[in-house]
Amino acid sequence: MSYIKDFFIGIFGYYEDVMLFGALAFIILIIVILFILLRRKKEYEKFKTLRLYGVVWRWNWMGKKKIISLWCYCPVCGSELMCDDEACRSNDLLANKTTYFICQKCGGVEKSRIVGGDRKHVLKIVRFEINKRVSQNNYKK
Ligand SMILES: [Zn+2]
Repeated sequence: MSYIKDFFIGIFGYYEDVMLFGALAFIILIIVILFILLRRKKEYEKFKTLRLYGVVWRWNWMGKKKIISLWCYCPVCGSELMCDDEACRSNDLLANKTTYFICQKCGGVEKSRIVGGDRKHVLKIVRFEINKRVSQNNYKK
């Protein structure tokens, strides 16, 4: 105990028990605040699915808010969707560039179509949408 007293006397010139309790309360408070901040940072990692353009998008988080293995799934049966963006290569007009998402399990039915570009473009805008919701804290629904 004497080294603790010496520590306080070294700083304040005197020692009272209340200083020890104050210091302990302060340390506990710092630990609690750190804990809350760290947990809060990880909160977005629970956000791993989003319904957009009529289909279900799923992905994983890696490192600092990096979206990996992003793909879309059938809203009816949940299976992975096939992507058809063949039409994008033969068209020069952006308005004619369309990517189709098809569910083989549901009998080759079109589940979604996104105008404006190929699959790279689609993944880019979905990523953008996910990041926007995370940065605006707009995903807890
Ligand atoms: Zn399906």
